[in-house]
Amino acid sequence: RPVILWFRRDLRLQDNPALNRAIEAERPVLPVFILDEGAERLLGGAARWWLDKSLRALASNLEARGSRLILRRGDSLSVLQGLITETGAEALFLNRSFEPAGFERDADIAYALQADGVSCHGFNGSLLCPPGSVLNGSGQPYKVFTPFMKALLGKFEPPAGLEPPARIVTPQIASDGLDEWGLHPRRPDWSGGFDWTPGEAGALDNLSAFINGGLKTYSHGRDIPGRANTSRLSPHLHWGEISPWRAVREAREAAVQGRVPAAEAEKFVAEIVWRDFSTHLLHHFPFIESRAFRAEYDAMPWRDDPAALEAWRRGQTGYPLVDAGMRQLWATGWMHNRVRMVVASFLVKHLMIDWREGEAWFWDTLVDADLASNVQNWQWVAGSGADAAPYFRIFNPTAQGQKFDGDGAYVRRWVPELCRLPDKWIQAPWTAPTEILRDAGVRLGDTYPRPVVDHDVARARALNALKAVSGRG
Ligand code: FAD
Repeated sequence: RPVILWFRRDLRLQDNPALNRAIEAERPVLPVFILDEGAERLLGGAARWWLDKSLRALASNLEARGSRLILRRGDSLSVLQGLITETGAEALFLNRSFEPAGFERDADIAYALQADGVSCHGFNGSLLCPPGSVLNGSGQPYKVFTPFMKALLGKFEPPAGLEPPARIVTPQIASDGLDEWGLHPRRPDWSGGFDWTPGEAGALDNLSAFINGGLKTYSHGRDIPGRANTSRLSPHLHWGEISPWRAVREAREAAVQGRVPAAEAEKFVAEIVWRDFSTHLLHHFPFIESRAFRAEYDAMPWRDDPAALEAWRRGQTGYPLVDAGMRQLWATGWMHNRVRMVVASFLVKHLMIDWREGEAWFWDTLVDADLASNVQNWQWVAGSGADAAPYFRIFNPTAQGQKFDGDGAYVRRWVPELCRLPDKWIQAPWTAPTEILRDAGVRLGDTYPRPVVDHDVARARALNALKAVSGRG
């Protein structure tokens, strides 16, 4: 009798504890992926694009080992029960989900299958450590990042890597075809400007290119959006095409071998810990998906301004750094972290539009859209999160541009209509003298918008509102 290996957000063969344990059962293995559109938040467009390609890569990796990926669609429990009836499978192996809906679904499935005499074996394949394994002295979840990170890194070391088996024996059973699933989104692709390679091989290539490149100057370079100084591992990590411990292990090994400074490697490790922190927070406080962690912030007098929201989404706000970020997102499905903070702050503070609107847009357009990281970071920016930016921190998009994109490389790349403006004015074209604008071919209000709000006016409006709500807590 075979065992089922249920792939979800662990679309890899290396360092996959569920796979290795399924193999140890010494039975034929049925690797299955289920498209269950009712269980969790519906995937966004960019994520569907990525998933389609990642599943193709996983299927071909399995085929290289004599196996096959079985695709089924529908309610997960019904599909699994159907597979069990069809094949007589006696056990289910999976890497656990820690997001609230997935966690609950896994528990229900384990309960139902065990009642049918099928054993269920769950592992942690997606995080450095599962929620609940790092708690403070009172046995409570950490709400602040730094002590969480210290506790996690003090308790856990990278585990040894797991090699996949050379051969996986899989019985012949029917599978859907990926083309039938129509995961292709409305838009043709998200590869404009980036060479994404969804799948395990792409993830490992990204990691090694990063370790041989950007990691060496990561702590400073990671803030410069015009440079390729970060790993761009986020979609790969989200879909589990690489384990987070693998990224940590390789960065630290490079430091031990003197290939990168240890402080740079540890800064990168800290970012990977932010990912765990976000998932732990969402797991322990599931309401933060839709409500403020600090309840008083739900009283923010959000503005309903569809025109401003649309200008933000399309990169037409008149603030070059904000527009460059939103256009990078639309073209590539990814945005640099510094710019994510600036555009998010602009939406919630300058435009005073509800962070949930921004979170939803990111969810639909990011190839790395991740419920926990997205919600946690949006609430961080909005000031309403557990370990959030103080309410009075309102990014000035012009000053941010001058500081982190002083030579305008990023703005020129994504807002080409401004590319001929000299550095001095590229982050604030409305301050440029008429002849400079004319020489650069910029006509404000025509070739490029005037600012949708005035920074000083917007800042004062946001501060008043934020002061009022934050005082209620
Ligand atoms: P690197 O700098 O190379 O970092 C390595 C890895 O660490 C990342 O791949 C990511 O997994 C993790 N990481 C880094 N920063 C953070 C962070 N602040 N929070 C959580 N994990 C982090 N990241 C997502 O993966 N999915 C999201 O949906 C998402 N939404 C965001 C929304 C907002 C408003 C903001 C400000 C940030 C968001 N981030 C999100 C976090 C961060 O911007 C991205 O993880 C990062 O830009 C990905 O690029 P990278 O892989 O090159 O990062």
